[in-house]
Amino acid sequence: MRTDRLLHITLRAGAARVLLCEVTRAAETARRTHHASRVCAAALGRGIAGAALLNAPRKGERLTLTFHGDGPAGALVIVAGPGTLKASIDDPAIELPPKPNGKLDVGGAIGRVGRVIAARDMGMKRPYVGRSALVSGEIAQDLAMYCASSEQQPTLCALGVRIGAGGPGGGDTVLAAGGLMIQPLPGCPEELLSALELRQELFADISAAIEAEGLESLAHGFFGGLGPEILGEDRLEYRCDCSRERMERALIAMGRGELASLIEEQGGAELTCHFCRSAYAFTGGQLGELLALSQKS
Ligand SMILES: [Zn+2]
Repeated sequence: MRTDRLLHITLRAGAARVLLCEVTRAAETARRTHHASRVCAAALGRGIAGAALLNAPRKGERLTLTFHGDGPAGALVIVAGPGTLKASIDDPAIELPPKPNGKLDVGGAIGRVGRVIAARDMGMKRPYVGRSALVSGEIAQDLAMYCASSEQQPTLCALGVRIGAGGPGGGDTVLAAGGLMIQPLPGCPEELLSALELRQELFADISAAIEAEGLESLAHGFFGGLGPEILGEDRLEYRCDCSRERMERALIAMGRGELASLIEEQGGAELTCHFCRSAYAFTGGQLGELLALSQKS
């Protein structure tokens, strides 16, 4: 399987920015980690690609992107750090029949009413938080709307995940996942905008295109005649940065009353990371130490 990567591309010497990524490995890791159904695996993969694209122009930042809809799968959360990605979905077992066009019904699983929330941690005291309304729950349109309404950046976005048999024992696997974002930059000529709009159809099945061609070939295939130039690439990887210390902080943040009742009623606690499913067990004695710590501060 190819390495997950993101290409930074410019059109017509800076008139528009294109970000193009493949996240097949990360999407498959998310699918396996969460034992996700097909539709939830598609939601996870689209979200991972979308977060990678949205975070790409801002080197070094950490983005937490949440899709909070009224659908049965619950909230979809993706964290993109420098070169890293991780994702979770509330109910990864939810499955829905495919839509009449054969595509997985991600909008049905996420829901069509709700919010997109993007929290950007730039190393300041508080993260910058932007919000917009969900459009379709299909992720790509929701992200494009977020960029336009919350960040005043017109954006064309396409995301895709192809799932099929091919895993061990003939089970499901992610065959390809990725996407692209196109953003006109100040001074972008009208004529380039209309040329890009005319090409939208090309992006409709982006995961199949990624599977067949790979990123460099697509950059030239999609944008031939528009002066595409690859400026650089980022390597991407599904990686969780959870740790026992983080879990301790989460326990302390629950408050003293909650901690005391955990000790009294359950005699300990086991916390599972939402992103990598690692389990962290705490005995009553260890919780007692955390309680003592929280009383000091
Ligand atoms: Zn973790």
